[in-house]
Amino acid sequence: MSKDIDWGSLGFGYIQTDKRFVANYKDGAWDAGTLTGDATVTMSECACVLQYAQTCFEGLKAYRTEDGRVVCFRPDLNAARMADSCRRLEMPVFPEERFVQAVHEVVAANLDFVPPYGSGATLYLRPFMFGSNAVIGVKPATEFQFRIFCTPVGPYFKGGAKPITIRVSDFDRAAPHGTGHIKAGLNYAMSLHAIMDAHRQGFAENMYLDPATRSKVEETGGANFIFITKDGKLVTPKSNSILPSITRRSLMVVAERYLGMPVEHREVLLSELGDFAECGLCGTAAVISPVGKVVDHGREICFPSGMEQMGSYTQKLYDTLTGIQMGRIPAPEGWLHTIA
Ligand SMILES: *Cc1c(COP(=O)(O)O)cnc(C)c1O
Repeated sequence: MSKDIDWGSLGFGYIQTDKRFVANYKDGAWDAGTLTGDATVTMSECACVLQYAQTCFEGLKAYRTEDGRVVCFRPDLNAARMADSCRRLEMPVFPEERFVQAVHEVVAANLDFVPPYGSGATLYLRPFMFGSNAVIGVKPATEFQFRIFCTPVGPYFKGGAKPITIRVSDFDRAAPHGTGHIKAGLNYAMSLHAIMDAHRQGFAENMYLDPATRSKVEETGGANFIFITKDGKLVTPKSNSILPSITRRSLMVVAERYLGMPVEHREVLLSELGDFAECGLCGTAAVISPVGKVVDHGREICFPSGMEQMGSYTQKLYDTLTGIQMGRIPAPEGWLHTIA
């Protein structure tokens, strides 16, 4: 490892690495794309992304497995999801096979930044696209840039995953028939006030409800929910305005195929939260963050798993998925993309 990085003390922040991938779309076509050492972007002050937020992104990780390979986890699903995001935002799709190839090239060009196995740190990859030409009337850009940079990040939870307390939010995340199901920057811009407000009130996250009836659980600003019933079933909320988390979809497979747990993907009512034994948030960054308590306007819903550790089913899900990712447990066909 030639990079002089203290892997154990890395936080979740941006560190500039050697190379990133850049491709440009102009006159109706993507160029060949290239790796570059230039970590900056220069564009018109009137670029569509700056005026009308025409941008979407993805997030995935590369890391070293127990047997010393460097791999990515299911990058084909990130490619497909970004294609969905682009179509909804009137942006040109970057072809899915080329997306996976670009992920491969970026990791291969920054191998020294892939943290060692067992450090808890990983190389986080951020593919993103934005409308780059000047647009003043409200319409889509005609020129776009697709980039993938990477940055080494520390374990999301230093010193283990303690259960968190979250609140039921009075803010809404995604309108019915809106953009909640795509990974658009605009969904995050409007969540920033809600998350800062939650933090000021002493909560780690917001639980967003469906805006139409405010009776059903959707997700948090950047993670899907999983619930465990008292008899060991995995339940995950279903809604057209939830972002389809790759971690959540993978956990559903892990529960069913590896742990023999029944899985239900269905609407989850706020009023039934008290019936669950365990609750967690899932996403690429933390894999699973256990939730110990949900506060709904003063009413506390405390899960039996408590505030000291993950519930036992959540722990099994976490251990199995991270075991698959790290090569300790055989992965389903196609889940690990080997880079080196
Ligand atoms: C990215 C994201 C997630 C998590 O998705 P993963 O593919 O598991 O990383 C969940 N919710 C929202 C709103 C997201 O943007």
